Amino acid sequence: AANTGEHVSNIRAIRGMNDILPGATPYWQHLEQSVARVLASYGYGEIRLPVVEQTELFKRSIGEVTDIVEKEMYTFEDRNGESLTLRPEGTAGCVRAAIQQGLLNVPQRLWYSGPMFRYERPQKGRQRQFHQIGVESFGIATPDMDAELILLSARIWRQLGIADCVELQLNSIGSLDARRQYREALVDYLVQHKESLDPDSQRRLESNPLRILDSKNPETQALLDAAPSLTDFLDGESRADFDQLCELLQAAGVSFVINPRLVRGLDYYNKTVFEWVTDRLGAQGTVCAGGRYDGLVAQLGGKDTPAVGFAMGMERLVLLLEETGAMADISPAADVYVISAGSGAHAAALAVVEGLRGGMPATRFVQHTGGGSFKSQVKKADKSGAQLALIWGEDEIASGTVTIKPLRDRGGERQAQQTVAIEQLQAALEHALADEIE
Ligand code: ATP
Ligand code: MG
Repeated sequence: AANTGEHVSNIRAIRGMNDILPGATPYWQHLEQSVARVLASYGYGEIRLPVVEQTELFKRSIGEVTDIVEKEMYTFEDRNGESLTLRPEGTAGCVRAAIQQGLLNVPQRLWYSGPMFRYERPQKGRQRQFHQIGVESFGIATPDMDAELILLSARIWRQLGIADCVELQLNSIGSLDARRQYREALVDYLVQHKESLDPDSQRRLESNPLRILDSKNPETQALLDAAPSLTDFLDGESRADFDQLCELLQAAGVSFVINPRLVRGLDYYNKTVFEWVTDRLGAQGTVCAGGRYDGLVAQLGGKDTPAVGFAMGMERLVLLLEETGAMADISPAADVYVISAGSGAHAAALAVVEGLRGGMPATRFVQHTGGGSFKSQVKKADKSGAQLALIWGEDEIASGTVTIKPLRDRGGERQAQQTVAIEQLQAALEHALADEIE
């Protein structure tokens, strides 16, 4: 069929998969750059992973009876009939790569970023394509490693100016064995109150009872107040490791609350689990979550390797940056809009501005293109949001000068425009732009 305009206009992005526009990308870039800097400063190396993996990888790692595997995966058959899945999270692929590429002979500190896919109900802070930065550490079993991950995440929040609106919640879910025993005790208790449980929790009673601790239903939560506590079932080693982690965090000045109902929704965790939570974003308040997963590498066919990691939800962090005004001074607008009218003016402007870009690499120059009268170009300069216009007209060409025209008021006043010699232009611009920032 012909690709008519009408046809195309009916094509929409997939629900829950968003375009991120130039007005928002400065937030993303700031976030990504801040995180990358902090991670590098702790010696973490970036790993880039495929977005698609064998479906089996996620089933075997995340767990068959989790929300993700039961109902949230984008799974399809490729042309060979192989079952593939768009990754719903990054840990499984990272472990797969670490095993396959032979990275596990020495301790590894790795991070990755990119889109994840889950078929969920889209709402604020919850998309079907969302983005995470994940951090994974392989080969260290002791809680000093857990502490390092938490410390570096705390540093990221400080860097971003959002440390005051996130809280660290911490728990230990113990060994597989401890969890098995606890699960029995929990189920024994909850079956006696089955009719008071919300329908989701009733279903989970058989499939994944620990997830009932996560229920948002107030009646279920009230029932849980009198339920056996996971903390009482912890094995000695998990308990000792958890105590040590808490001591390390206290010594480092990181505050936290212990949340005995924090269990996390994926099967592969053991011992330490944690979440960074904010009350600024409504129901989707977890901006970062992780924990230890000492059994996963062996479970996926690698040699027994302890591991711990976490993932941040980028959309929620961007929302938080917007919400808190932590980046109020970041503008997507250009700094300088370049105008030229009259014969030879455009070519002259082009050459000079190319030189300026070399000398002032952090300054954003937008060159007017497409011609038009001097007046219409000034209008466009104003609309662009730029701080200054740089103007080449016939007079400037004749005298080898350029006019700098301030476009914004500052302290209630607009600076006068000035005409300077080309040789003085960079210094004058730097001065004018520096003044703007004060
Ligand atoms: P939630 O309880 O909010 O569903 P989760 O436990 O499923 O989160 P994880 O799998 O631990 O989330 O992912 C880590 C982080 O990724 C979350 O804390 C959150 O910030 C983010 N995240 C998870 N799912 C989504 C989504 N659908 N949209 C946006 N961000 C998400
Ligand atoms: Mg979820």
